[in-house]
Amino acid sequence: MARRRLFSGPADRRIKAALCIVAHPDDIDFFCAGTVILMASRGVSVDFVLATSGDKGTREAVISGAELAARREREQLASARLLGAARVEFLGRGDAELVESLELRGELVREIRRSRPDVILTFDPTPGYRQHPDHRVVGRVALDAAWPCARDPLSFPEAGPPHEAAEAWLFGSPPTAPPPDLTVDVRDALELKIAARLEHGSQTYSPARLQARWRRMAAEERFVQVDLR
Ligand SMILES: [Zn+2]
Repeated sequence: MARRRLFSGPADRRIKAALCIVAHPDDIDFFCAGTVILMASRGVSVDFVLATSGDKGTREAVISGAELAARREREQLASARLLGAARVEFLGRGDAELVESLELRGELVREIRRSRPDVILTFDPTPGYRQHPDHRVVGRVALDAAWPCARDPLSFPEAGPPHEAAEAWLFGSPPTAPPPDLTVDVRDALELKIAARLEHGSQTYSPARLQARWRRMAAEERFVQVDLR
């Protein structure tokens, strides 16, 4: 049987549902928000799953982790509204404490089976020397959950009916990696992408500088495209 053609990008009409699986509030904004906007604006149902609520995401220990997490969840929900997300799920794990586990894999299987995405957007877990450990773990466990576990009915049978996602699009690849399979031009979505990023006030030192930098650098998003069929 001929191999099915990979998706051409966010405009591919075969994509009806997408699921972003990330570690922290603002990961989606940083790595794939333009692609999310392009899909959501043409009617694709795009869901977000965040393994943590970013309770360690500050260098000034003036508020508690619980207060910071609550603030960052509110920021993420405001950003998700602008991006057009259908559902935002916080798994509530500790920031900078994610480890590969069957428990986390089972949770991601449940989320994949709930959202039933055609494409999963998550971290490339392969950068070797310097990568946020939560990014590596989320990318690794999301891929393991997507293939083969979410597809196979005897894996995590309590986590809902099986689902095969066609592809994973991985972001955050190391700069030395081969050229990405998929480069998405998000110029048309750039101002909305910046507005959504600015909702993360706790992570923004200078909104004006961020806006200027993102206008120069954030008009392209790059992915490694993984066939899961
Ligand atoms: Zn992160």
